[in-house]
Amino acid sequence: MIIVMRMGATSKEIGDVIKRVEELGFRPHLSAGVERTIVGVIGDERPLQPDQWELLPGVERVVRILQPFKLASRDFHPDPTVIRINGVTKLADARQKDPQDTSPMAARPQVSIGGDEVVVIAGPCAVESREQILETAHAVKEAGAKILRGGAFKPRTSPYSFQGHGEYGLQLLAEAREATGLPICTEVMAPGEVPLVAAYADILQIGTRNMQNYALLHAVGESHRPVLLKRGMMSTIEELLMAAEYILSHGNYHVMLCERGISTFEKYTRNTLDINAVPALKQLSHLPVIVDPSHATGKWDLVDAASRAAIAAGADGLIVEVHPDPARAMSDGAQSLKPEKFAQMMSNLKRIAEAVDRKM
Ligand code: PEP
Ligand code: MN
Repeated sequence: MIIVMRMGATSKEIGDVIKRVEELGFRPHLSAGVERTIVGVIGDERPLQPDQWELLPGVERVVRILQPFKLASRDFHPDPTVIRINGVTKLADARQKDPQDTSPMAARPQVSIGGDEVVVIAGPCAVESREQILETAHAVKEAGAKILRGGAFKPRTSPYSFQGHGEYGLQLLAEAREATGLPICTEVMAPGEVPLVAAYADILQIGTRNMQNYALLHAVGESHRPVLLKRGMMSTIEELLMAAEYILSHGNYHVMLCERGISTFEKYTRNTLDINAVPALKQLSHLPVIVDPSHATGKWDLVDAASRAAIAAGADGLIVEVHPDPARAMSDGAQSLKPEKFAQMMSNLKRIAEAVDRKM
């Protein structure tokens, strides 16, 4: 249930509503908009009578949210959520305050996801070496990517496959951020590893295999880092939104939903890009929607078309795999674009973005 306060409701009226919500054993969630303040009532509110709340001073109306996801729903928060990614690290913060500092980190622009701009996150599937991540970072930046991706902890189907470099991989990502100013997005696989990954990463990625790892959702919910939540390969749109709800309900409101393809009977492609999910998620939720055309197709030569479709369908961003030498990649080479192909794709995408009134 959400309680919409009247325009100009006083802070005492808002405070009284919050007090009442708490007295009844619910958790209030305050969302102060430009025009109105909305108080969300978190918990199983079935026994509550909306009409009684409408009698409280300052209350305009009360809306029951019928979907099982509440904080993630459009009814709860009609305006789109815009997430600012600021590339903060302790080192970067210290350097930013130095007026003499001319490094890329000091000059880095703010990146916002969920606003007018379509934001591209790009980089290798896995961080393999210093040369590989630095070369890729410079190349994707040059082509217009705003965020660098790269796995340090890799969820591999086989225990014998490369599992990622762990903390050393995170250090290499931080080095690439220092060199280029690009914020970094990297996967976290275990609840106990959230503090370590959050110390390096600007965006915590939850992989498809962990979408319903509730202990992990809880842990990232307690972190202040934005989260890129990938849809489970066999999960419904509603299950994705319920997973997001776990993170939001633990206090982290910076969640991006990622459609990365689902398992279907079709085996020509690695997964099937559920393009329907893009407008459906935008309709149901205020959270930004990102599409991963690389894991959705599994084939580098389908990535451009899938990306164009994603932007045309209303995606707020893309996460794309790029590798300087895909034939030698330690993971996902077949779906990785070479830097020059990525640059070509970026210029194609700009035209689609313009056609749908988005910046890129
Ligand atoms: C990845 O982004 O490299 C990855 C493992 O993605 P997913 O979890 O979607 O398979
Ligand atoms: Mn991958």
